[in-house]
Amino acid sequence: MVVSRRKSVGLFIALSAGLISVILLLYVGWVVLSWRTGILLFLGVLLLALLITGVILNTFFLVREIRRNEQHDAFINAVTHELKTPVASIRLYLQTLQTRSVNEAKRKEFYGIMLEDSDRLLATIEQILRTGRIGSARGKPIFTPIDLRGVVEDCVARARTLHQLPAESLAYVPGPAVTILADLDELQAAISNLIDNAVKYSGAEMRITVETAATGGDHVLVRVHDQGAGIPKTELKQIFKRFHRVPGLAATRIPGTGLGLYIVRSVAKRHGGRAWAESEGPGHGSTFVLELPVVR
Ligand code: ADP
Repeated sequence: MVVSRRKSVGLFIALSAGLISVILLLYVGWVVLSWRTGILLFLGVLLLALLITGVILNTFFLVREIRRNEQHDAFINAVTHELKTPVASIRLYLQTLQTRSVNEAKRKEFYGIMLEDSDRLLATIEQILRTGRIGSARGKPIFTPIDLRGVVEDCVARARTLHQLPAESLAYVPGPAVTILADLDELQAAISNLIDNAVKYSGAEMRITVETAATGGDHVLVRVHDQGAGIPKTELKQIFKRFHRVPGLAATRIPGTGLGLYIVRSVAKRHGGRAWAESEGPGHGSTFVLELPVVR
């Protein structure tokens, strides 16, 4: 599907480029034939400019439309998979509990798995709803003065409990005290997304550091550093796009919708800040940075 769309984008671009060449050829011929008649020449140039603008605009809108369709497909694929898998798993365990006699230990294990699956389901639904809120004009952030160090500390504590991690696996290094104007819910979502990703893409050897630091200017940084999967240089910008996941084994085996980093970047922008990723490539870990303006 995606390949055939890519082909048709290429085809439309080639077609437009061909048309523009034909128009230019006609124009050059026409100028040569009527170089003496100035008015005609002027009208001809105008007409030509209009025609070329039309063809370029047409190509632009066509390509944009095809890209939107591609995104729509990616959304359906990623989200349906993420919604269907946990529901299917819960259903299977419920059926087993209903049809077979299971001992107490197994029963407890099944309940645990079903709880994890329902958490995963809730997290996916929350990501989808948040993406909708952030993208709509109505969902404006509610800014209040916030102690950044406290919020980051809360997010680290939440992640330690959620993923059952010791402090050595997920360390917190607070910088100087700083107050920012932010929407608490959005800020927590962005920081938690970065920490959850660091956990998700770290593998068994988990060494994650979360720190806050001043830039020396009017901004403060939240840095989440992991020694996990790493990111190819060509993907460092792409991963912040909606539904984009780094292609390859890691992305297909690790569950996700490709919405987390889109949320992080949108939250950063809504707060007048930035978000970016740094990595020396696959296998070399990654650092995600959230830069936000401070209140003086
Ligand atoms: P998801 O994790 O649901 O796929 P995200 O938007 O949070 O979606 O991340 C987009 C992609 O960026 C991921 O699929 C993954 O390929 C890559 N990525 C994000 N965080 C990390 C990380 N800490 N280490 C390596 N790759 C990462």
